[in-house]
Amino acid sequence: MKVKELFKNKTVYSFEVFPPKSTSSIDTIYNALDKLVDLKPDFISVTFSAGGSGNSTLALDIASKVKSMGIIPVLHLPCINYTREQIDQTLDEAKRRGIEHILALRGDINPDIPPVKDFVYASDLIRYLRTKGDFDIAAACYPEGHPDAENIEQDIENLKIKVNAGADHLITQLFFDNAYFWDFREKAAAKGINVPIEAGIMPVVNKKQIERMVTTCGASLPRKFVKIMQKYEHNPEALRDAGIAYAIDQIIDLAAGDVDGIHLYTMNNPYVATKISEAVSGVISV
Ligand code: FAD
Repeated sequence: MKVKELFKNKTVYSFEVFPPKSTSSIDTIYNALDKLVDLKPDFISVTFSAGGSGNSTLALDIASKVKSMGIIPVLHLPCINYTREQIDQTLDEAKRRGIEHILALRGDINPDIPPVKDFVYASDLIRYLRTKGDFDIAAACYPEGHPDAENIEQDIENLKIKVNAGADHLITQLFFDNAYFWDFREKAAAKGINVPIEAGIMPVVNKKQIERMVTTCGASLPRKFVKIMQKYEHNPEALRDAGIAYAIDQIIDLAAGDVDGIHLYTMNNPYVATKISEAVSGVISV
């Protein structure tokens, strides 16, 4: 069964994990996966660095592990720093391992790495993927607009190109104010974008994450969110509980508005994913 089919019958519920840093053991992610698969998400996606090292083995290994545990793996594939040959190698290896789902991405442009020009935008990769077999193709979208785009309208025009190129479904960048998601969904529909859109939800549960949110994420931080973070930033347990509750509140509102799916940025944290999954199991068919 492909993920694009699942949207026809249910609110899709999925997780994202990332390969551990080179300083941590691979067992840390495998231990986390043991617990995450028990929550029975519809798929687990695995991030992949756009760095250009050409080493996709770790992401492929984790995706293979997810598959062996009976859950659909979705392999992220950023293209900006990879040659066509490197992309081909990764796709061939994915096929060999039975990985049929790709999240096709451009990747962030790193000022220190001149982009390889084989694929300029995610839509170029998606068009190419369409010639490479029967992949289920997801793509990224941005409720508050992508930072490189002039404005949200221009970004949605570009999103339409990506969908026309063959994206089967979309996953949003994280956001903390659902109003941006509703507005974006309406604008996308008005432009004729009618593939399913999963909402990306990031539970913010520790101080390091707060600092990252404030400096780099670009998502608007609503007053309610800032108040909670300021109140509890020095109390790890309270901050964790408050971050979980905030994410649950977002998900319940999204489910009530008939969102197509929820994609949980788990940060490889099964405790947080479990608490959230338990709390929302009634409103989405987890
Ligand atoms: P694109 O869709 O190519 O868009 C990039 C910019 O170009 C946008 O501003 C867009 O408006 C513009 N644009 C697009 N098409 C055109 C066109 N035809 N003409 C003119 N302008 C155009 N990064 C990683 O490195 N690894 C990951 O694993 C990863 N996972 C992610 C998962 C999700 C769910 C999301 C939302 C993002 C993820 N990213 C990841 C980050 C992503 O790579 C960056 O946000 C990147 O800057 C843009 O990628 P994209 O695929 O959205 O690019």
